[in-house]
Amino acid sequence: MFGSRSDRETVTCIACGDRLARSDAREYDKHGDRWERRDKAFEYLCKGCFADTSHQPRGDLEATLDDAGAGETDRETFLRRYRELAEENSVERE
Ligand SMILES: [Zn+2]
Repeated sequence: MFGSRSDRETVTCIACGDRLARSDAREYDKHGDRWERRDKAFEYLCKGCFADTSHQPRGDLEATLDDAGAGETDRETFLRRYRELAEENSVERE
């Protein structure tokens, strides 16, 4: 929607094998709760599989901030993660 070049990248969902636009995929960090991006390849889930695998409540701000890596990441990464999570939450409420 912002016309970024990532819109045309495709990734493979690790759960069902579907290929989808990277911008539509959800990053899955098999290492858990850190968002360190250097020397690390993220895996991806489509929205359907992400919903199936994520059972954490994500409805409140504190959880969103924590998921976004507050206090663990640099500012740029945190803000990007936070924006992505906020967008997910707003989509899920519709
Ligand atoms: Zn999938």
